[in-house]
Amino acid sequence: MPRPPPLPSGTDADADADVEASKIGDEMGDVIYLDYNATTPCDARVVEAMLPFLTGVFANPTSRGHRPGRAAADELERARAVVDRQLGGRAASEVVFTSGATEANNLALLGVAEAYVGRSRRIVSQVTEHASVLVVLGELARRGWQVALVGVDRGGRLRLDELASALGDGAALVSLMLANNETGVVQPVADAALLAHERGALVHCDAAQGVGKIPVAVDELGVDLLSLSAHKLYGPKGIGALWVRRRRSAIRLGRTVFGGGQEGGLRSGTPNLPGAVGLARAMELAAGAPAGEVAGLRDRLETAILAGLDGVTVNGDRERRLPNTTNLAFAGIEANALLASLPDLAAATGSACTSSQPEPSQVLRAMGLPRELAAGSLRLSLGRPTTAAEVDRAAGRIVEEVARLRALPKRL
Ligand code: PMP
Repeated sequence: MPRPPPLPSGTDADADADVEASKIGDEMGDVIYLDYNATTPCDARVVEAMLPFLTGVFANPTSRGHRPGRAAADELERARAVVDRQLGGRAASEVVFTSGATEANNLALLGVAEAYVGRSRRIVSQVTEHASVLVVLGELARRGWQVALVGVDRGGRLRLDELASALGDGAALVSLMLANNETGVVQPVADAALLAHERGALVHCDAAQGVGKIPVAVDELGVDLLSLSAHKLYGPKGIGALWVRRRRSAIRLGRTVFGGGQEGGLRSGTPNLPGAVGLARAMELAAGAPAGEVAGLRDRLETAILAGLDGVTVNGDRERRLPNTTNLAFAGIEANALLASLPDLAAATGSACTSSQPEPSQVLRAMGLPRELAAGSLRLSLGRPTTAAEVDRAAGRIVEEVARLRALPKRL
């Protein structure tokens, strides 16, 4: 089990937070953590912002009958406004807090399917979506919806011409991820949204891997609904949001969680105030963190591996991808065997959410990679704490182990 990386210590984190950070850093031992697309450590400044809401301001934000409850409600609305503003929204009421991107995706897809049931029974998405979209679409198909999954090109980008024909004479919803979790490839969401709106479809975007890594603005993307998750951007686990456009024609959603009617009736349950505060702070910090440094380290890692070995290819469009991600195919190598021989490295062979599946990555297969190359691919995702020394050590170890595994006699 890879241990978490050291906390990225912020300039304004206090001494106590730094002590905690170094304790957690010690837990890492010698493991180089290059799996930041699976999850990130909480930034010490985020933890600091959350602490008062775990102890002092602990009242239930729904308890409007007393002052502590109203104070908690005010703080929740403050966090909501920050999240909305960071996404380029215009009203705090556009943000529905959820437990993460999985729940936000469920609410978007099931919520639209219920509210717009009379309009069209078609939903369009793409083959390389995350399980939290694809499995929901499977459920909607079981309920009688017509689901069309558009393919991707060799670079992992949505085929816009196929989208146009999949839309036919209209659809209720188009759901597209902003950036792929395995390859980091960034999708042409704005172009797709134009096409979708021309045919009267609403547009949902799973931006779980985009928010915090690249600029995300709902108007530039032209989307009506957008999912995000705090633990992907140095915030806490267990909190995320669905952004729902309220301007022009407000989007209606059916509810998926029933109960006390919190979050505008869409998501019942006591609101996670510390989580919401943490998400808001994490988004503010990400807005001020330039991506150039991590992109430079990712390129350094990639260059060192490509220079050290033959038979290595980069999976996905190299120009249009997240600055922190590389996905490499090693010819003649089983990536799971490679990972097993690299106990000092935390990386992934596919999505963390589907890592129990024995099949090679469906994302890479959809891009046209032969089975063997898909099974020989490794995702390396860097983060704010990643250093040049770690990158150099990781590249050296990968080159060493791939060469060693390739030199072993083949079992027939
Ligand atoms: N969508 C994408 C693209 C993701 O990468 C993830 C996390 N692996 C999710 C959704 C699910 O997010 P969460 O862990 O917050 O449920």
